[in-house]
Amino acid sequence: MAQINPDFATELKEYGAFDFNACYNCGTCTAVCSLSTEENSFPRNMIRYSILGLENDIKSSLKPWLCYYCGECSETCPRQANPGELMMSLRRWLTAKYDWTGLSGLLYKFLQLSIIAFILTAIGVIVFSIYENFKLETIMHYGHLFEMLAIGAVFSLILTPNIIRMWWFIILKPKVKVPIVSYFKGIWDLIVHMFTQKRTLGCDDNQFRWFEHFILVGGYLALLFTTIVLDWFGTENLFIIVLGYVESGIIFIVTFDFVLSRMKKKKEISKFSQPSDWFFVIWLFLLGFTAFIVRIFIDTNLLENNIWIYLFHLIILVQWALIIVPFGKWTHFLYRSFAMYFEKLIIDNK
Ligand code: SF4
Ligand code: SF4
Repeated sequence: MAQINPDFATELKEYGAFDFNACYNCGTCTAVCSLSTEENSFPRNMIRYSILGLENDIKSSLKPWLCYYCGECSETCPRQANPGELMMSLRRWLTAKYDWTGLSGLLYKFLQLSIIAFILTAIGVIVFSIYENFKLETIMHYGHLFEMLAIGAVFSLILTPNIIRMWWFIILKPKVKVPIVSYFKGIWDLIVHMFTQKRTLGCDDNQFRWFEHFILVGGYLALLFTTIVLDWFGTENLFIIVLGYVESGIIFIVTFDFVLSRMKKKKEISKFSQPSDWFFVIWLFLLGFTAFIVRIFIDTNLLENNIWIYLFHLIILVQWALIIVPFGKWTHFLYRSFAMYFEKLIIDNK
């Protein structure tokens, strides 16, 4: 029997949903959604589930992740029920449900907690720098070590268990039968979706947005590799230095455009921003920008007398790695890719 949560609408509003109860089930949103098919009629059924509080059905659904938020449904809704934003709120809500630590939900719901977390991490970096007598070489050494350890810890202790929980909600609990061999066969699709996010191309008028995301993901992953594996701040190899400049430049140019578009609020997708949306774009922008400046200061021999710029970069990096990647909007990138993977497994084994 379907389990109903009568407080679901109230709970979802804490994740940014608007008055979706205004929906009178006309079906216009489903008609205009270019991703909607006979098998996948959305967003309307997600709205029905949300109104009825069918929490478990939403938890086992991939539909919120299949939507790429083009906003057409919200633009055409005659009741201003804002189905596009509802899908976004469901993604935030699902993120909180997948997260075994419970911190995602708390950070989404209570802005004060996010602010406290940002302040505490900044204090941690400053206290560590004082303890190390602001010795640039030592702090940079530990900064580099932190990057490696943080990636390993966040992926193994938080993101991997969360993906397993997502799999449990979507495949195991609803008893979808997927032979082991299908998991291996689908891995290529997972990788392709992860690196290209090509599902966005299924939305009309989304080509430029897809291109921006594509080069942003590429630039971000490449910069991660360049700073961690190729030791960008420590190297004297000209090719690696230039490569890092290009990658960090890509990140701050694209994210600057994202910040501008959220401020202008012209497109449907940018009209409603939750604090987590702002944190994601601003921190990613600062990450690229401060990395770029740090390397310029290294190349002009100015960093030794301006250690504050590296400390600023380190604070941004620590906040990014410990707050935004494991508990914030960064996780959407991961869950969306796995949603495509799980969808393929389900379709292939129907
Ligand atoms: S277009 Fe608006 S009113 Fe019509 S079904 Fe969709 S959300 Fe409901
Ligand atoms: S935002 Fe776009 S993709 Fe998502 S449900 Fe609405 S019309 Fe479909």
